[in-house]
Amino acid sequence: MSSILVFCRDCGKQVPSSQTRDGRCLDCQVRKSVADLRDEHARLWRKRERYRSQQANVDQIGRQIARVEDRMGHRIKELVPNEREAIDYLRRELEAARGQRYTIKGL
Ligand SMILES: [Zn+2]
Repeated sequence: MSSILVFCRDCGKQVPSSQTRDGRCLDCQVRKSVADLRDEHARLWRKRERYRSQQANVDQIGRQIARVEDRMGHRIKELVPNEREAIDYLRRELEAARGQRYTIKGL
């Protein structure tokens, strides 16, 4: 199968057209599909830290965080059929979510 190279319309990276959808590369598709969950993850994470500093019970929030991570994983799997790659993407998105948390915390 021959594939031409196209520019991703979000990040401008050159990628094979077979890997794009709506003109976006796979990285951007993943990022966009989990964006809302990533915000939710960061929000819950901050909440948990706040509760923890008040010695409150954080089990419930921990379960909510796990559920959000689960949903991120499901969405990524829909876009990335290869399981290893899907896990890499999930890890990257979770790191980004934590990075977001640190940025906000550092303000
Ligand atoms: Zn892109």
